[in-house]
Amino acid sequence: MSTDQRSIAGRVAFITGAGSGIGRAAARLFAAQGARVALADVNGEAVQGVAAEIEAAGGAARAFVLDVADAQAVALTVPRAADALGGLDFLINNAGISRAQPIDDPAYDQLWDEQMAVLLVAQQRLVRAALPLLRRSSGARIVNIASTEGLGATPGCSVYTVAKHGVIGLTRSLAVELGREGITVNAVCPGPTHTGMTRKIPDEAKAAFARKRTALGRYGEPEEVAHVIVSLCLPGWSYVTGAVIPVDGGLTIRYA
Ligand code: NAD
Repeated sequence: MSTDQRSIAGRVAFITGAGSGIGRAAARLFAAQGARVALADVNGEAVQGVAAEIEAAGGAARAFVLDVADAQAVALTVPRAADALGGLDFLINNAGISRAQPIDDPAYDQLWDEQMAVLLVAQQRLVRAALPLLRRSSGARIVNIASTEGLGATPGCSVYTVAKHGVIGLTRSLAVELGREGITVNAVCPGPTHTGMTRKIPDEAKAAFARKRTALGRYGEPEEVAHVIVSLCLPGWSYVTGAVIPVDGGLTIRYA
């Protein structure tokens, strides 16, 4: 891959959680840059809708209904997608859920298992399913979506926070393990972003939180996260690995 170009045209990206929010925005942006995209989501209707949107705009997309917590389905779907799209260059581990989980919740064990399965365990399984295919690429990239909760903590959110810290640990471990093969592994940490995950928070509460906590004084848009994800896959970003990149409007650096 030449580092003179800034193009990902012709490359293939597999994106989980592509039916909504950040995954959808990343899928649209990859496709707009000429990449072919495999869109995976547990919500079949949503992911088929995103594939249709991309195709209507002249892009190449295939939708796959996938629960990333289903180990067998992950192992089958990734190679199927690569067959359908002609290989695999970029794995974007993005699917996520978020539920309140106070430590004394009677269902804490169940919340732990459910969220760990989607937020953390799935990411390593997707990497293992993708690896044989990524090894055939001349510019393989793995981008794991963590969160600012991977860098700090919010009360009542411990399962999500542990999982996102785990995503950062997984990213750093795999960056050093796979680096000699030329595969980069990076993490993106979104801050408060307008997506399905934050839809239920009232607008006034969102605005007040963003004014108080971020440097930019506003929520982010999914496209602003998508640009960082796609940039990590550009040919010239080949020396960036193990990076943990906040895309948070300055939330993590603001004290007062
Ligand atoms: P979203 O709810 O808009 O999108 C998440 C997508 O993941 C949905 O389409 C959903 O159907 C899919 N999904 C959920 N469980 C799945 C499963 N088991 N298998 C396959 N797909 C599944 O939310 P989003 O904000 O776009 O979330 C994307 C990522 O960004 C997540 O990892 C989330 O933790 C992270 N994040 C979001 C924010 C934010 O403020 N929105 C902040 C930090 C991190």
